[in-house]
Amino acid sequence: MIKYCKNCVLPDSRPNLEIGADGICNACHSWSDKKEIIDWEARLKDFEKLVEHTKSKAVSWDCVIPVSGGKDSTWQVIKALEFGLKPLCVTWRTPARSALGQRNLDNLIGLGVDHIDVTINPDVEKRFTIETFKKAGSLAIPMHMAIFAIPLQMAIKFKIPLVLWGENSAMEYGGKGENTLGFKMTRDWLKTYGVTQGTLAQDWVSDDLSEKDLSAYYWPDDHELEEAGVTAAFLGWYLPWDPEETFRAAKEHGFEALSDKPLTGYYTYADVDDEFIITLHHWMKWYKFGFTRLWDNLSLEIRSGRMSRAQAIEIIKEKGDEYPKEEIDKFCVWAGMSEKEFLEIAQTFRNKDIWSEKSGSWVIDSFLIDEWNWS
Ligand SMILES: [Zn+2]
Repeated sequence: MIKYCKNCVLPDSRPNLEIGADGICNACHSWSDKKEIIDWEARLKDFEKLVEHTKSKAVSWDCVIPVSGGKDSTWQVIKALEFGLKPLCVTWRTPARSALGQRNLDNLIGLGVDHIDVTINPDVEKRFTIETFKKAGSLAIPMHMAIFAIPLQMAIKFKIPLVLWGENSAMEYGGKGENTLGFKMTRDWLKTYGVTQGTLAQDWVSDDLSEKDLSAYYWPDDHELEEAGVTAAFLGWYLPWDPEETFRAAKEHGFEALSDKPLTGYYTYADVDDEFIITLHHWMKWYKFGFTRLWDNLSLEIRSGRMSRAQAIEIIKEKGDEYPKEEIDKFCVWAGMSEKEFLEIAQTFRNKDIWSEKSGSWVIDSFLIDEWNWS
């Protein structure tokens, strides 16, 4: 039986989300704890210290910033420049990059940074992506591995003392454990929150995908980072992170959102750089956990006090299940797969603990919304 947080709209089927005896989830708790307890002045001072230390160590660039061109990475760059850091920005080039994504990336580079756009062999990437979709029901495992691996590998290679990530998603979306809730991104964090279902690139080595093929996806070990004097830190630890605020700042610096409807979820400014991988990644949550990106986004809105839970539920009702036909078509063209085959694979990942078949339709018992159209 699926249970929903009484404060936000997230279900306990979401990985790393736990609903306590009070009916409130750990993401909501960590949000309100953070608001009440965090001394942002002290955190800012810590960041200033980190910047100072970094600059004393750096010989070329001060920090690596992993960027997509999205609003968060634009914000990271704005902040780094404000604090006088000289960043090397690094992008994993998504095979699904959109024209808007390219414009936003160009805009970000134009803020005054050096940039490397890394393209992984398209044939390897395609085969790897299809493999993870078939075996793990995820199109985004290669993407997440690459997004984390490439900047860390670059920092080690160029001896850059700091890798500056954005938000710590363990804080924003629910997480636990001291190893994962601090300023530092560790191997433990990556395995838990790196969205690779706990797998490493080496776990995917096969007759079809050699270790060499997958080398761009390998995460360095903590000790490799230590030896190279690289610290991987979350900017969101030091400065308050809020999607509306990062969007406002990014927009002021030339970032463009979508003009009409969001690609996925609630925000018109989220995931705009990618034409299908991210949308389908989030869509698979519907099969696996019985919710979509919209639930995550609306829960953030509730926590930050911009929306009531009742309003969020109305929005979910209105949007329905958001079947992403256009993105599925684009993916199928890219992967050389039919829509039927895509849906057959997706179906194998339907979580039978929450879904059951009733008069020809798949339904979720005790769903958030009673009068839902399941057909
Ligand atoms: Zn909650």
